[in-house]
Amino acid sequence: MLVKFFGVRGSIATPMRSIEYKAKLRKILSRVPGSGLKGETQIEQFIDSLPQYLSSITGGNTTCISVSSNNDSCIVDMGSGARVIGDRMMNGKAGAGKAAIHIFITHTHWDHICGIPFFKPLYIQGNTIHFYSPIKDLHERFQYQQTDRFFPLPFDNMPAQKIFHHIQTGEKISMGENLEVDCFPLKHPGGSFAYRFREKKKTFIFATDVEFTGEYLEHPESGVDRFFKNADLLVMDAQYTLDESMKKFDWGHTSLSMVINLATQWGIKNVMFTHHEPSYHDKKLFENLQFGKNHSIEIGNRRLKVYLAREGIMVKL
Ligand SMILES: [Zn+2]
Ligand SMILES: [Zn+2]
Repeated sequence: MLVKFFGVRGSIATPMRSIEYKAKLRKILSRVPGSGLKGETQIEQFIDSLPQYLSSITGGNTTCISVSSNNDSCIVDMGSGARVIGDRMMNGKAGAGKAAIHIFITHTHWDHICGIPFFKPLYIQGNTIHFYSPIKDLHERFQYQQTDRFFPLPFDNMPAQKIFHHIQTGEKISMGENLEVDCFPLKHPGGSFAYRFREKKKTFIFATDVEFTGEYLEHPESGVDRFFKNADLLVMDAQYTLDESMKKFDWGHTSLSMVINLATQWGIKNVMFTHHEPSYHDKKLFENLQFGKNHSIEIGNRRLKVYLAREGIMVKL
């Protein structure tokens, strides 16, 4: 008889984060006999000298990001990363039941909503959670995810006040004084929406779970171009390599090379790959990043900066 364990955590997946990995790495290095590394500074310098795929972890949590401008902030999507941001928010107003939290939802595939039952601010009376999406029955979908067959506590019994805002494509939503948000429908099984955030002259677009193919480049719809054009930062679904995107046609995700082609067509300044393929380890993801950079140069776009979305990073625009 042989017993193997392929999962041992309760409630929700809690993949190791870079901060935890680095702490472990430091401890291991401090115990290596005769390593020649003396003290914390030398260990730190050694870790920093490693290639990034060895010195950090890209991250295993599913989609959840935050966007903020001065005192105004919002969240996009509630994947398993929502547990992490929720825990962090509990140290502030949310822990005291005094927070107003604004959350935009791209679509309701599990990897984008599975963090909701583990988002602690929802368990605190006095907090108000605003959900925004063009999906008309969003509330019903959240209720369905937490029916008693799937979760012990119904969504409506979570103590925070929940307000649903049904938004339309083209509608502009103001987040406080500084941020303006609008959305655009994307090709994806069941649909998905890109969100565009504007603050004065800076534009950030988050477009995950979308399938753009070569057909689009040959017949670009002006509406798409208008929405994406000239963004300072575009974070986009780049789950597949070109080969995979051919095999997985209609699965709803875009290839790395297509993301670079589109970013070039739209005059994007910085592009970041996200929605990483679950079977890719960190080394492969960094190889994909390098491929993206090379592809950009090959097609004559030397201005485009290409990045990899990784848990824990911050980008200032
Ligand atoms: Zn997804
Ligand atoms: Zn999806």
